[in-house]
Amino acid sequence: MKRIGRLGVMGGTFDPIHIGHLIAASEACSQFKLDQVLFVPAGDPWQKREHADPEDRFLMVELAIEADPRFAVSRMEIDRKGPTYTIETLELLRRSHPDAELFFITGADALALLPSWYRFEDLAELTEVILAARPGVEVTVVGGPGWPKIHPLEMVPIGVSSTIVRARIRADEPANYMVPARVLKHIGDSGLYRDGAA
Ligand code: NAP
Repeated sequence: MKRIGRLGVMGGTFDPIHIGHLIAASEACSQFKLDQVLFVPAGDPWQKREHADPEDRFLMVELAIEADPRFAVSRMEIDRKGPTYTIETLELLRRSHPDAELFFITGADALALLPSWYRFEDLAELTEVILAARPGVEVTVVGGPGWPKIHPLEMVPIGVSSTIVRARIRADEPANYMVPARVLKHIGDSGLYRDGAA
């Protein structure tokens, strides 16, 4: 097994996973010389309403990444009871990879909310942050005292969001190429996102 010295951690609700997530992970891997990007679907994303249940969200990530040897997916947040706190995930990863540097990959919305996260003040000790910009989402924070070190990611702007994908499924419009074909098939087969608010 390849030794992991630099581990990217791509946390998200992934409701559903889409090309914005995958391209951000791929670019982070290349630009920051990461040995692996670990996708960690949130079990109970307590600051968000989830539309698909955790097992469906996990399966969609698995289907999306399985052909890429740089990527892996973890059940650690799905299997943990209670609200999903990123700090607890990072502490577990620190224990399982004691020699690895951790890089949490996140977008501008999540970054702006970072100070509201459980034990925000402990994040800087465990991880650096790779910031993926999304068109239409202004980057209003660039860190400061007590914040983890933030590295901007360069990527082609991808305007896709999970909200847009869900709205298209509900409206019976194509979401082809916004999400990988196998993920779209799972969404169709299981009737996900057909009803309710996007
Ligand atoms: P998400 O919607 O599934 O998205 C995952 C990440 O991908 C987000 O940071 C998002 O950026 C980014 N992204 C989405 N579309 C993109 C695009 N087109 N181009 C580039 N980047 C894109 O996940 P989320 O619900 O925001 O959760 C993010 C992480 O924060 C999760 O791991 C969650 O558990 C964690 N979190 C932790 C706490 C806590 O520990 N207390 C609280 C809240 C969230 P945007 O931010 O711009 O959407």
